[in-house]
Amino acid sequence: MAVDTLRCRVCEAEYPAVASGSCARCFGPLEPVYDWDALARTVSRESIEAGPRSLWRYEALLPTAAPKNIKGGPGWTQLVSAPRLASAVGVGEVLLKLDHTNPTHSFKDRVVGVAAAKAAELGIETLACASTGNLGNAVAARAAAGGMRSVVIYPNTVEPEKLLATAVYGGEMYAVRGTYDDCSRLIVELSGEVDWAFVNVNLRAYYAEGSKTLAFEIAEQLDWELPDAVIAPIASGSLFTKIWQGFEQFRRLGLVEGTAPRLYGGQALARDRRSRRRRSRDRDRTRLQRRDLRRPGRGRRPQHVAARRHLRRLRRDRCGRHRRCAARSGCRGRDRRERSRRRARHGHRVEDAAADRSAGRSRDRGRRRRAARWARCRMSIHQPAVDPVVASFRDEITALDVRLVSTINARIKAVKALAEYKEERGLAFVDPEREAWLVAYLKRVNGGPISDEGLEELLAFVLALVKTEVARG
Ligand SMILES: [Zn+2]
Repeated sequence: MAVDTLRCRVCEAEYPAVASGSCARCFGPLEPVYDWDALARTVSRESIEAGPRSLWRYEALLPTAAPKNIKGGPGWTQLVSAPRLASAVGVGEVLLKLDHTNPTHSFKDRVVGVAAAKAAELGIETLACASTGNLGNAVAARAAAGGMRSVVIYPNTVEPEKLLATAVYGGEMYAVRGTYDDCSRLIVELSGEVDWAFVNVNLRAYYAEGSKTLAFEIAEQLDWELPDAVIAPIASGSLFTKIWQGFEQFRRLGLVEGTAPRLYGGQALARDRRSRRRRSRDRDRTRLQRRDLRRPGRGRRPQHVAARRHLRRLRRDRCGRHRRCAARSGCRGRDRRERSRRRARHGHRVEDAAADRSAGRSRDRGRRRRAARWARCRMSIHQPAVDPVVASFRDEITALDVRLVSTINARIKAVKALAEYKEERGLAFVDPEREAWLVAYLKRVNGGPISDEGLEELLAFVLALVKTEVARG
């Protein structure tokens, strides 16, 4: 059932279902509007099971009609058990969703498949994107299959092997001297100039819906049951949100019962200068967490033998914190290769960039708490009742607040020691000249976004607060 309306997720303004990137009123993201009453009457387990062995078996729950030739379409990838991986991580059962068996070996075939079908429906003949690898492959391949023209714009730092994989499909490729962000900005500008289907810009509302099919397939392949937990990469947050939406939509239609799965998000860390700075800044915090894990009674358990390794990952892998860095650099890193090798040891070799994509469930309820604790070593946990992207931002804000409180405490201790030293020598505790210098110095080194006025207010408050606390003893 093709939808004919898009709705802004922020202000709820409605638009016709054409190629439109964001809300004209508030720039919020647009989402297709489905007629849930009609879907509840027409969609059943049987109607889905009678569909093709591709993501188009869920055509009724997608925003566009299936293309005419859907042989070899993306999706309907295997969900296989990995018992050795399950015992290695200490959970009852782990299932892997083998999305590398899609036509161009990544889940991007799903999202591009839906966007390309919409482009064809709208009569657009050029499929385009900015990419650091997988998306470019999917766009070029889908365009070749559908007899369309493809244009892929990529940063000139992308590895030659990845470009070769895109080039074999015969599309047009343009290198940009800059980062992935620069490429993204360029395609946003281009989308206002040329009549092309930029899959993740002006077709984003349709494109993103392709990710839901991962959740649909997992539920159907588990004989219409929901898994206990799903582990997925966060990346831009879109895949993660759509997996959650997919399960919710199946529940809404009564196709599955029970509580929604817990969602665990992982994020690989890019190796750019900014993240290296963050790593060194966070070293103290990580040391603290390491001590916690070595507490007597916890540190010797089998799942914590690997805690040191997990903590090393924690520096690279903190969910949400490095969302933008990671999306920008395409996440090339040792951590993904390591994870990919780990999968390979259990019989599933996956492409590095896809290595942190998996679906997991634990049947053994007695082991659940341990599994969750293991996951906490390296991932942030989101309650399914909250929008997972909101939960991820909240995690980031909470972590910052924890550091803020710890910094204030450290400052109070240092000032208290100074006050005692001064008192012994009969020196005045408050030195207005030093305070004026401190304010001027911090204004000079402040990198923003806090304004000079804001910084003055903050410092006045902090200085007064610390004095009061020191006076309290
Ligand atoms: Zn809006």
